Amino acid sequence: MTTINSCQSCGMPLAGADNLCGTNRDGSINKNYCNYCYQDGEYTSDISIEEMIQICIPHVVNANKEMDKKAAQEMLEEYLPTLDRWK
Ligand SMILES: [Zn+2]
Repeated sequence: MTTINSCQSCGMPLAGADNLCGTNRDGSINKNYCNYCYQDGEYTSDISIEEMIQICIPHVVNANKEMDKKAAQEMLEEYLPTLDRWK
């Protein structure tokens, strides 16, 4: 793992935030995924990486004021393929 405590589907930082983490089928916490992407042992939506990039762009722009949509998309196109879900 090159990145620690980021969702391995959307890349959202999960550092120290168990309430943001996904859940396994038995209800335990899965720290590899956020609870938007992964609940009860399954991905919450069956989407392609291209769709995930489009979903993530506004969140990245919101969180990084210096980034515009184009910069966010370029960053996501580089970053998301490195995550476990998309490898
Ligand atoms: Zn996620």
